[in-house]
Amino acid sequence: MEHEESAAVWAGDPERVDPDDYGPGSPFVRQITWAPCDTCSLQVHAPVTQVVYRGLVCPRCGAELLPAVEDPEGWLQRVLREEDELSEQL
Ligand SMILES: [Zn+2]
Repeated sequence: MEHEESAAVWAGDPERVDPDDYGPGSPFVRQITWAPCDTCSLQVHAPVTQVVYRGLVCPRCGAELLPAVEDPEGWLQRVLREEDELSEQL
């Protein structure tokens, strides 16, 4: 069966990497999530650390695809800790 695949976009510009944390060519872990915008036939991707504060918003039509969480500070601390731990395992 034919399935039309939706394009993938980022909700915003990717964050700058601190070269002291990860040199060029180094793999590192960032938790990413996504949601579909049916209006635009897009997969909208964003780092979890952005989504917990702002929710996930379609960059084309502005629809809110995922809501922000109630405790963004708690989420942020947990996500950053996990990213550090996982990056060290690579
Ligand atoms: Zn949209």
